[in-house]
Amino acid sequence: MTRSARGVPHSLPGPRLESTFADAKPPLSDSEALIEANRCLYCHDAPCINACPTGIDIPSFIRKIATGNLRGSARTIFETNMMGISTARVCPVEELCVGACVYNHLNDKPIQIGRLQRYATAKALELEESSSRPLFTPAEDRKRKVALVGAGPASLACASYLALEGVAAIIFDKGDLPGGLNTTGVAPYKYQTEDALQEIEWIESHGVEIRTGVAVGEDPTLDALIEEYDAVFLGLGLGADRMVGLPGEDGPGVWGATDLIREIKNRADFTIPPGVDTVLVIGGGNTAIDIARELAMLGASEVTIVYRRTEAEMPAYAHELAGARRYGVRLRERLKPEEIIRNGESVKALRVTDLDSRREVELPCDWVVSAIGQEKITSGLVPEVQLDDRGCIVVDSQTRQTTHPKVYAGGDCINGGKEVVDAAADGREAAFAMLRSWGHEPALAPGQG
Ligand code: SF4
Repeated sequence: MTRSARGVPHSLPGPRLESTFADAKPPLSDSEALIEANRCLYCHDAPCINACPTGIDIPSFIRKIATGNLRGSARTIFETNMMGISTARVCPVEELCVGACVYNHLNDKPIQIGRLQRYATAKALELEESSSRPLFTPAEDRKRKVALVGAGPASLACASYLALEGVAAIIFDKGDLPGGLNTTGVAPYKYQTEDALQEIEWIESHGVEIRTGVAVGEDPTLDALIEEYDAVFLGLGLGADRMVGLPGEDGPGVWGATDLIREIKNRADFTIPPGVDTVLVIGGGNTAIDIARELAMLGASEVTIVYRRTEAEMPAYAHELAGARRYGVRLRERLKPEEIIRNGESVKALRVTDLDSRREVELPCDWVVSAIGQEKITSGLVPEVQLDDRGCIVVDSQTRQTTHPKVYAGGDCINGGKEVVDAAADGREAAFAMLRSWGHEPALAPGQG
């Protein structure tokens, strides 16, 4: 169990399967961090910065590690990315900053930016605690208040910047645990729920209030929040797993991917029953890879991803697929699922059509996992908040203001499902836009001291 800064416990049951996973990228030691920081070339117009959705000044925070200024290093990170603790662990750095590092063109290993970010933020928070000297001090009360709906990374980032600028920021979440994807959906070999709750506790220490177990849309309604608050931020995330809609799908042994990941991470005593050896995962995105790798690491002897198209067409990152393959996960391409065949209650096989031969095949299995995306959350919104044809909330690309002037939005509900770092950028931009709409230039905005 962790305890929030306000003394409200974020209760975490145990023992949990999640705790059995080892860290895929363990923290750097002091000497490793120093050596790695000193490798950085502190490039002019650094490509790593341009590749970061939040635009962290990466050479600057690395230089501060090299000179022993860990507090300054962490401040550089948090000033542009308040979710710097989790993004250090969950960002697909191979596709972003690390992938853009100039060392890739020099036939040498790129700088381990994510691990250095983890080092700087962890050390600075340790220093903060031991010295009782906070990294940030909230500004004077600006007599403004903002309601944030959904306690995922977009809302946490937005609320944190608002609170530090003297705005009352109150987050409402219908679940028991705040954190959204960070507490329920990140692969446990990257980042675990306990760490996510500690990050939230730190965000709360800036003065953010989180009210869990409150379903906005029912009580209170969104209209009521818009009426009562100076602005509302929608960080709704995504909804339930989308299922394929196959005959035989309803019943035991068929899972939605994010549901199963949540069970592994957050449910006490959840285990994979004996006899579940062969698992088929339907999908081609990063969530399909994550759950496949998790199940293989937990001991399922045969885990296969079943995908309708080819490997080259998969939306999943190549490095994630390579990581899963190291644990024995297989990929079967160009197979179209048709039916889940059961033996009584139990799953027996997945019938698929081979799209090349046009023949039907039965793939024996014990579990089937649907990882084809999640539903959009659109219920409980007000008519003035427009949606696009994908069901995503329409926002101004600079301010994240919706088509309702008092309502802003960010994260998966505006982009259909991207990275935590994108949500963090949305939250920051929305917070700064709200402050500017009230005639206040945010002190933490780039170029402000
Ligand atoms: Fe350092 Fe690589 Fe960024 Fe250059 S591109 S500043 S070497 S991390």
